[in-house]
Amino acid sequence: MPERFILSVEDLTVSFDGFKAVDHLSFYVEPNECRVIIGPNGAGKTTVLDLICGRTKATGGTVKFKGMNLLDMREDQIVHAGVGRKFQTPSVYEDLSVFENLELSYPKGHGVFGAIFFNQDQVVQDRIQEIAETIFLADQLDEKAAYLSHGQKQWLEIGMLLIQDPELLMLDEPVAGMSVAERKKTAELLNRIIQDRSVIVIEHDMGFVADIATRVTVLHRGEMLSEGSMDHVQNDPKVVEVYLGH
Ligand code: ADP
Repeated sequence: MPERFILSVEDLTVSFDGFKAVDHLSFYVEPNECRVIIGPNGAGKTTVLDLICGRTKATGGTVKFKGMNLLDMREDQIVHAGVGRKFQTPSVYEDLSVFENLELSYPKGHGVFGAIFFNQDQVVQDRIQEIAETIFLADQLDEKAAYLSHGQKQWLEIGMLLIQDPELLMLDEPVAGMSVAERKKTAELLNRIIQDRSVIVIEHDMGFVADIATRVTVLHRGEMLSEGSMDHVQNDPKVVEVYLGH
């Protein structure tokens, strides 16, 4: 029977010197879902992504992705399994062009035979072109990344993840520092991405959340405070009290 969820997080817990940053958290992400995690500063949002991608080791719980328990895997194995993670600040190679940044991120090791029997160069170039169009940078392929706007750098980094074909993409505040126009285009990009993958986004901008979220998870002090549609969580008295009411 096919799994309904691409990601199942159950009882996820981590303590730092006795302080529970994430406390028995459970949530489930479906295919083609854009899950947005919101919550006040220090709620544990970034730590949750760190736990899922193997950057931080959990104290307890399970994280199942396509049947694999990610908590038993190393960070590189988790990437290889199909989980991409973007951090808050863009980390592109400033001295390289958009094309070269994407080329460097193209997954290696497709086997010697692929290179012999197929024109691998053409395959890679076509894929780079396709990704560049998706991230609104098709006209900037030869531009050095250093000359891109902050928003364009964020898109390039998303492209560098997309070219690895992850099934789950995790983004930490992708529109921080972006112009209004760039935010709108980023919402369009995420809505396009979830046509064939799932996304988890940490976000503060509620207007942007409304544009992208399939469902919202509200964290507070490492615990789940509320979960559901944007409408549901916005009208949940617990959320109003501890978060939106501030
Ligand atoms: P958010 O992303 O919601 O702002 P974080 O996940 O960054 O929250 O942090 C949650 C809490 O865990 C904070 O109190 C933070 O100081 C603490 N924390 C996060 N990572 C560590 C760490 N490696 N060591 C100790 N405390 C940490």
